[in-house]
Amino acid sequence: MRRRTYLRSAGATLLGLGAVGTAGAAGPDDRDVYRPGGPWPGSDQAINLNGFHTNEQLTRALRKLDRQSDRIALRKIGESAGLGDPIWEATVGEGDTSVHLITQIHGDEAVGTEVALKLLRDLAQGTSGRVERILDELTLTVVPRVNPDGAMFEYDVDDDGRDEWVGRRTNTQAWEEGDSRHRPYYHYSSPSGTPPGYDMNRDFNFRPPSEFDPKTDDEAEWWYVSDEGEAYLDVPQDGYTLRNSGLRLAPEVRAVTDSYFRADPDVAITHHHQGSYLVPDSGDGNKPPKQTIMSVMAAYGPTYRDRAPYDDPDAPVEDVVNPFIGPETSARSLRMSTLVADALAERGDSVFDSITRYGYATLWGSYLDALTPHTDAAGMLYEVSYQTDDRGQMALGKQMEATKVGFMTTFEALAEGTLDEVDGERYFDIPLHGEVISNPHASR
Ligand SMILES: [Zn+2]
Repeated sequence: MRRRTYLRSAGATLLGLGAVGTAGAAGPDDRDVYRPGGPWPGSDQAINLNGFHTNEQLTRALRKLDRQSDRIALRKIGESAGLGDPIWEATVGEGDTSVHLITQIHGDEAVGTEVALKLLRDLAQGTSGRVERILDELTLTVVPRVNPDGAMFEYDVDDDGRDEWVGRRTNTQAWEEGDSRHRPYYHYSSPSGTPPGYDMNRDFNFRPPSEFDPKTDDEAEWWYVSDEGEAYLDVPQDGYTLRNSGLRLAPEVRAVTDSYFRADPDVAITHHHQGSYLVPDSGDGNKPPKQTIMSVMAAYGPTYRDRAPYDDPDAPVEDVVNPFIGPETSARSLRMSTLVADALAERGDSVFDSITRYGYATLWGSYLDALTPHTDAAGMLYEVSYQTDDRGQMALGKQMEATKVGFMTTFEALAEGTLDEVDGERYFDIPLHGEVISNPHASR
C-alpha cells in the first residue's frame, strides 16, 4: 500500500492513522483498507443524510443569501467532474486580513459545509459588534463543498435495486490515456465496482498554474511506479523532492487553486472528518475513556522539526515538515490550532473538552502543503470525528458546534488581533489522538 518513503510507512504503522485526513496518508488509506467493499451502511444501520443540504439546496441557499445581502459576493468557480454541479465561492467582509476556507473536499465529510453556510448567513445578516468587527477586519473567501460529486454519491448499498444516498470521499471522474503520463495512485474506485474518481486532497501541486501544468510539463524520471503498478509523481523543487505530488487533474482542484491565488490569503483553513478515536489516558477505573470530538492540525516548517510526531533523522526534511513555511508563519499556524483547542476546553468537562492533535507530516498533493507557502498563510486542518457515510447525521449537532466554535473563535481572534497572545508552543501539548474505535460492522 505504501511506498518507499521513510515516514509514510512509519506514520501509518505507528498510529494506524493516515486514514481520512490529509496528513501522513498516501493513497487509498487505512479507512479504505478496514472497510473493503463498502462502508457501514452495508449493515442494518440506516444512513440518514437528510440533515445535510443537497447540491441543489446548497445552491438555492447561497443564491438566496447573495440576493438578500449586499455583503456577500457569490461566484461560480467551476463544475464538478461527474455531475457537472456548481462549485461556489462566497466572499464576505472588506478587511485587510484574507482568510481562505474550504470544506468537504472529501464528499463524505459534510459538517464543515453546513457550518460554513450558517456562518455566511450570520455574517450576511448579523448586526452585532462582533459581526461588524469581523467584516471590517477580515475578507473571508469560502468554498463550501469542494466536492459536489462525492457529497451526492449514491449507490445500492443493500442490494435492494435502489440507490441510496451515502456520499463518498472521491469525486467521479475517469482517467483516460493521455490525461497524464501515468494514472496517479490517488485515482480509484471506492466502494469497489463503482465509477472511479480522485481523492482531491492528493491532487494539488506546489508549482503555481501560471508556471507549470503538471498534466503536461512533467518529466518521465519524476515518476515512481511501484511493483503493484501504483504511480507517484515526485516533483523536484529547490533541491527538495516533493513526493506524491498531485496533477491538478480534477476541475474542482483547479477551481480551488485559482480561488486561493485570487484570495491571496494570510490564513487557510480546511475542514475534514476522521474516523473515531479515544482521547489517550482519558479513562480510569471509574470513568470510561473519552472519545475525541475533533482533532486539529497545524502545518509548519523546519523550525519545529524536532517536535514533529513522525520525525526520522534519516528522512529528508521535506518528508517531515514543509521547508517552504517560515518560522513566523509556522508560529501563527501553531497559535491557531492552540486557540481552537483552548476555546473548546473552556467549556469545561463536556464532550468538547476532548480535542486531540492530528499528527502533521507533509502531504505534497494537499491543499495546505501545496498552497499555503505561496502566500505565507497560516494553515489549519480540522478533523471532526466520524465520516458521514459511516454514521450519517448522527451526532451532527455536536460536530457542528465544535466546528462553529473553532471557526468563530479564529475569526474573532484575527479581527481583534489577539491571536498573537496565544502561546503556540502549547500546540505540542495537545495529545495526538489515541486508539481507534472500531466499526462494529467492519467485518460484514
Ligand atoms: Zn478529509
